[in-house]
Amino acid sequence: MAEKVSALDRYPAYRTDIGIEVHVQLNTASKIFCSCSNAQTDQPNTHICQVCCGHPGVLPVLNKEVIVSAIKVGLATNSEISHRSLFARKHYFYPDLPKNYQITQDKLPICTEGHVMITKEDGTQKKIRLIRIHIEEDAGKNIHAAYTNESFVDFNRTGTPLLEIVSYPDIENAQEAKAYLKALRALVQSLGISTGNMEEGSFRADTNVSVRKKDAATLGTRCELKNINSFKFIGDAVEYEIERQINALEDGKKIIQQTLLWDTKTKTTAPMRSKEEAADYRYFPDPDLPIIEVEKDFIEAIKKNLPELPAAKAHRLQKDYGLTSYEIEVLTDDQEFVTYFEQCMQYTKSTQLINWLLRDVMGYLKEHKLSLDQCKITPEKLAALVTLIDNGTINTAAAQTVFTACAKDGSDPLTVVTEKGLQQIGDVAQLEAIIIDIIAANPHMVAQYKSGKDKLFGFFVGQAMQKTSGKGDPKILSDLLKKHLS
Ligand code: ZN
Ligand code: MN
Repeated sequence: MAEKVSALDRYPAYRTDIGIEVHVQLNTASKIFCSCSNAQTDQPNTHICQVCCGHPGVLPVLNKEVIVSAIKVGLATNSEISHRSLFARKHYFYPDLPKNYQITQDKLPICTEGHVMITKEDGTQKKIRLIRIHIEEDAGKNIHAAYTNESFVDFNRTGTPLLEIVSYPDIENAQEAKAYLKALRALVQSLGISTGNMEEGSFRADTNVSVRKKDAATLGTRCELKNINSFKFIGDAVEYEIERQINALEDGKKIIQQTLLWDTKTKTTAPMRSKEEAADYRYFPDPDLPIIEVEKDFIEAIKKNLPELPAAKAHRLQKDYGLTSYEIEVLTDDQEFVTYFEQCMQYTKSTQLINWLLRDVMGYLKEHKLSLDQCKITPEKLAALVTLIDNGTINTAAAQTVFTACAKDGSDPLTVVTEKGLQQIGDVAQLEAIIIDIIAANPHMVAQYKSGKDKLFGFFVGQAMQKTSGKGDPKILSDLLKKHLS
């Protein structure tokens, strides 16, 4: 199928401006203003107390780890770290917000004016500037039962620490939007401050899309795509919105500023009933929380202990393991895979390993809808499998059988080879006898091959593989065939 042409290519007079707000859930041990566990649980209303449930008269106490995490992201995005910042109350009513206000940052956020580097479609680098990064608390969850018309509230999530990362509208198309989000997620994962899991809502993006004529001085009216939980869907939704907005303007219509939801079935956007249309949140400094003062030394200490960041990591993967930029891109899509890969490389130096990881392990996980931590092939086992190929114990066809068996039940590759008798036949005399038989049994084919039908070589290889039940050493077989057919 041909690549779909973007509306931006079909309407070259237009340009798109996209700004993205990302909410990152921090993986601190406790919540932001109380000592409740911040761990995920499916038992509703078990990680709650008077503070996170907003009882009257309680006082919030700030979790210092939240500040540390925010500074880490600030440093990793080249932001200015504010030496003084402030919490504010943002007022609105919603059943999952028991205090009727969210503690967030308004006038003095913890970080400002940073940037994230992305790789554009043509391979060049582009800077996406950040307006701010601020700290806030998450709300609970409203759960609407499908058929009984009942609604429930789960407060486990109230008081989960969040970082809200707000970009300038520097993003110009769907590819850049995805690249930006991937870069940002890789960053928070590398820093170890969040799982970055989009399905679980630990990394949520609100994407503001607007279009305008290239010569227009001001931005067009924007529409917000709310909480889309996969990179692919965000890319699709952005592409759809660009086209919808350009078509509307071409038809002489006006764009209405609104919040939209992406329907993954119809692949269209639809307006969402919004709780905060034109709201006045009546922000004011939270009187229960002191001004946050961050000393220079405190920032310096965090800076010294920053882990390896994605750009440095990509450089090292290329330098230490000789990976191509394509391999690095796929591998670093999820930091878990980088860790897995590096664990594998402690057992083998094989250049084949990356292929088995990108093709077979990732393919298997996708096919069976598994995550990497559910994968039964440990790094040690994958390395063992590749070593068996490298040292000639099995050929690649047999390795596929071994892989499937190990992936299923986590068995040891060598045990599978022994049990199933998959050892490669590398005995030249034994293979030569088989080749001589094949040649004797197919005089007609031999004659055709010798008269110039080179393609028939494959027929003989196939025969030899069949006669050895797929276990013949392909290199030796090929050499022997060449010798006896010439
Ligand atoms: Zn609590
Ligand atoms: Mn927010």
